[in-house]
Amino acid sequence: MNDHQQNKPGEPTDRYGIGAAGMPLNTLADYRPIPADSYGALFLPDRLAKGYHVEEINDGVHYVTSGAYDAMFVVTGSGVVVVDAPPLLGTNMLKAIKEVTDAPVTHLIYSHWHSDHIGAAGIFGPDVKVISHEYTRDMIQRWPDLGGGRGLPVPTETFSTNETLDVGGVKLQLDYKGVNHTPGNIFIYAPKQKVLAAIDIISPGWSAFKHCDASENIRGWAEAHDWILDYDFKAVVSGHVNRWGTREDAVASRAYTNDIVEFAKEAFDQAEDMEFIQRNGFSNAWVLWENYFNEMTNYVTKKTLEKVTDNGQNWAERLAGADVMTKYHAYSILEALRLEYGMVTGFEKRIIPQES
Ligand SMILES: [Zn+2]
Repeated sequence: MNDHQQNKPGEPTDRYGIGAAGMPLNTLADYRPIPADSYGALFLPDRLAKGYHVEEINDGVHYVTSGAYDAMFVVTGSGVVVVDAPPLLGTNMLKAIKEVTDAPVTHLIYSHWHSDHIGAAGIFGPDVKVISHEYTRDMIQRWPDLGGGRGLPVPTETFSTNETLDVGGVKLQLDYKGVNHTPGNIFIYAPKQKVLAAIDIISPGWSAFKHCDASENIRGWAEAHDWILDYDFKAVVSGHVNRWGTREDAVASRAYTNDIVEFAKEAFDQAEDMEFIQRNGFSNAWVLWENYFNEMTNYVTKKTLEKVTDNGQNWAERLAGADVMTKYHAYSILEALRLEYGMVTGFEKRIIPQES
């Protein structure tokens, strides 16, 4: 790891004077430059001028992006079906829809309960039919302040596994395949247009955001990469990074995630190094675990970033921001191996007698 990883007392990276208690602060120059084609719509002239970018992916299915958020809407023969309403898109979503059609919004689908993807839902008014998984409704009823006080509409229609919407001659298939990024995170699929919305799982062309996209269940999130590829799609709207993804993007995200899982398993099996115990002893259990996990995290991060993939590039070269975020995915997946995959670390095997 580079020298910037540690906050040195008195250095600008330690402005709060908390030393080893703090998180690392690095600079742009510490990381790889972002390839121009990874920016998607971020710097397109229309997005810079209007604050948002909208485009028709296929036959009425539209992609819309502003801020750091992406969403979808579908123009049908009898109104508009919207998928998600991120606060950072906000009223830009209304402008984008107006730019394409004068038809009213009749249906709103929530992908999942996270407020950063649905918190602006109130902008569509009280007459819109709101559809979600039943877990999403439960969370909105439990915490009415979701949506930042803008009034988040409670879903009027919920389901537990599948539902097909038929609006104005357009079919949308809503599927819940089990806990993943959150409980209740659903896939929204337009079979005729071959467009899928699968939110907060892959980040096309990029490494996912911190800790496996801040997922509530890491194993389910990793598995969801397979579920995405089970669909016959040409485009996947994934919620972030200002662009929609292709099949090729989803295949790359899955391979990257699977590599982290495999290297994490390897770290679990191999990490029996007692050197850090000799260095730190057992007197502060949290220092012991901090260093143990950080050593395993660094092992997984190095292996992953340096892995040469099927196109000849390593992951650090192939996915934008992989050198920034891989360590967080590695850490989350290492924790998940213990909690969600039922594995025991080599270190635990050494210090805790195992039954033979
Ligand atoms: Zn989310």
